[in-house]
Amino acid sequence: MSVGLPERTPTNLLVGGQWVQTATHLEVINPATLGSLAEIGDATPEQGLEAVAAAHDAFQTWGVSSARSRAEILRKAFEIMTAEIEDCARLIVLENGKAWRDAMGEATYAAEFFRWFSEEAAHVQGDFRYGPNGDKTIITDYRPMGVAYMITPWNFPAAMATRKLAPAMAAGCTSILKPAAETPLTALWVADVLERAGAPAGVVNVVTTSKSGPVSEAILSDPRVATLSFTGSTYVGKLLLEQTAKRVLPSSMELGGNAPFLVLEGADVDAAVEGAMVAKMRNGGAACTAANRFYVHASVADEFAMKFEAALRGMKIGPGIDQSNDLGAMVSVKERDKILEIVEGASNEGLATTAVSEAPGEGAFLSPYVIRDVQHGSSLTRNEIFGPVAPIVTFEDQAEAIRMANDTEYGLISYVFAKDAGEGIKVARQMESGMVAINRGIASDPAASFGGMKESGLGREGGFDGMHEFLETQYFAVDL
Ligand code: NAP
Repeated sequence: MSVGLPERTPTNLLVGGQWVQTATHLEVINPATLGSLAEIGDATPEQGLEAVAAAHDAFQTWGVSSARSRAEILRKAFEIMTAEIEDCARLIVLENGKAWRDAMGEATYAAEFFRWFSEEAAHVQGDFRYGPNGDKTIITDYRPMGVAYMITPWNFPAAMATRKLAPAMAAGCTSILKPAAETPLTALWVADVLERAGAPAGVVNVVTTSKSGPVSEAILSDPRVATLSFTGSTYVGKLLLEQTAKRVLPSSMELGGNAPFLVLEGADVDAAVEGAMVAKMRNGGAACTAANRFYVHASVADEFAMKFEAALRGMKIGPGIDQSNDLGAMVSVKERDKILEIVEGASNEGLATTAVSEAPGEGAFLSPYVIRDVQHGSSLTRNEIFGPVAPIVTFEDQAEAIRMANDTEYGLISYVFAKDAGEGIKVARQMESGMVAINRGIASDPAASFGGMKESGLGREGGFDGMHEFLETQYFAVDL
């Protein structure tokens, strides 16, 4: 396989169905080689507003088009993306750094949002009931909100884009997507797929920029924009909420996580290790859903740590484009160094921090770490690590483990390994997180409601809830 970019890799902005040149450009770097991959458009705030105008114009017809016609475009996008899935995976690997298997997993998951929402598009259900006083009938109706502004992070450049674009299109909204500066090529490729699938001009617009703050501020201040859908850090999410509050703009927020991974007394240790390898290592640990802290019952703590370390030691580290590698590069040297700083902090706290293997010297590579004997409250349990570092806290008392697991401002996902599903659900009901994976290392599914409690977010993506984020509820009081 060629290590170059796929033949169809747009690099300009997409505005009103046209690929638009910009005066200045932004460089995209391959984190595995630190070499340049491409130069892409660097939009100004004015160009952001041109995208708003295009999306607003397109909404006038798209917003009243039939659900079936929108569904067919989404289905076609699923088919194109599936036929060209390796191009998508290659782009993800080249600009994000992750391993080939992770990139194929992401590309497949991303395409599934097109299929899922093509099926959901025609299933919006309103409600009809009689007023309890008998004086009227009550009709609950839904309609598309309008122009949606979407901001996505670098860790899942395809899936975070399709998880927003697909429900917005199904609902009848038009979009302006602003991908992360590190990984814009995959988002542009996804937009090109939608163009080829027949999305009318202006339904999907993509703005890439090095000035995400000013460009977003201009877009969010424009009264033609009806909603914001953001995925990224809690820090930036709060900054954006301050801006959207000024216009009381509906804001869907998929934010940071600090997922606990519980291995309870009597749990199957081998299954827990297998689950930990997925929950911790998918995407090299750079996932909002990544297991961030492990709470393991004292009776199995040594066995779990030993087996987990052995499995991690077996991972081959190197460029994701080589399909034999299990762990690719971090997205940038800066992100890699942030993780190393967290490890250094743990070492300063007196913990033994030796990497389980050696990573290649060139590129943003990092070896996994298992850090044992961690105390709950250590910086390792407080910070979102976003890399292949696994701190293990040992516990004796299950109630105390649940308390420690919930002792965080985040609440995206928890992992519970229990002796059986019944006990798993009992514990899951006590977890303060929007999602709980029970005796498994992954929960994400386009058909399920994805989202967090507490500072992990507002709203849900996927499932049917994902479409509701782009629908306005309207109630008609009628004398019938
Ligand atoms: P980030 O720094 O918050 O950036 C996310 C996006 O926000 C990027 O597109 C970024 O653009 C943009 N941005 C940054 N500052 C902005 C501003 N002032 N105004 C408007 N946009 C701004 O997050 P990240 O480092 O890319 O991603 C990692 C974080 O995302 C983690 O905390 C992770 O947990 C979270 N995440 C959450 C979910 C979820 O579903 N809950 C999924 C994936 C990731 P630039 O690239 O140009 O800075």
